[in-house]
Amino acid sequence: MFKTIAIILAAGQGKRMGSKVNKQYLNLKDRPVLAYTLEAFDNHSQIHGIVVVAKEDEIDVCYREVIIPFKFKKVIKVVAGGKERQDSVYEGLKVLPDECELVVVHDGARPLIAPNIISDVINVANDMGASITAVPVKDTIKRVNDKKIVKDTIPRSELWAVQTPQVFKKNIILKAYEIAFQKGFYGTDDSSLVEMLGQDIKVVLGSYENIKITTPEDLEIGCSILTNRQKSKG
Ligand code: C5P
Repeated sequence: MFKTIAIILAAGQGKRMGSKVNKQYLNLKDRPVLAYTLEAFDNHSQIHGIVVVAKEDEIDVCYREVIIPFKFKKVIKVVAGGKERQDSVYEGLKVLPDECELVVVHDGARPLIAPNIISDVINVANDMGASITAVPVKDTIKRVNDKKIVKDTIPRSELWAVQTPQVFKKNIILKAYEIAFQKGFYGTDDSSLVEMLGQDIKVVLGSYENIKITTPEDLEIGCSILTNRQKSKG
């Protein structure tokens, strides 16, 4: 019944947006960013339930401005997040239903995720235990020291920019979180915790359109991606 659960993270501060309203509740065209994100998972046949992680004082807003008006039917819980992203994911993990076998973690701030990518990453994780979405890096990436002096250039052919969704068997992600907290390790994504288990994690091709809405320019880029999609649908 609840085999595959999506944890959607919306408990960030959004400091880089420079707005009082959390970026997930800002409008992209005519709807809040989080409404697009939730729609992608609510409409997806391989997702059986959704746990939303919101800031404690925004749980009301989340229901009032997103979950209720857009009639999302798969949301089983909205829980309060924590200080860091990793703390927020952990709050979501704590309320997973017993029947859950596969956990899909996705940033609420990535509203442009396409359904076929959700399917691809779920199918691979179902076979292999762990899978993440990423795209090859287009820029040349250098390591730079604190005096802004270039140290070295990392071969680009090995570099991928990692996105969400990231999907893991429940027992794997629970174990990874347990160990990370024991060690006091904080990562910027879930894969970095699972990597510490020595688990193979397969990369599936994400999309350059699956942007994370972080700064005001991202809202404009997001709008133009949506306009192009609407045009190509005819
Ligand atoms: O901060 P960052 O841009 O990496 O956030 C990625 C996602 O994680 C966002 O959707 C944000 O709302 C969420 N997040 C969270 N709790 C935090 C920090 C970030 O749910 N403490």
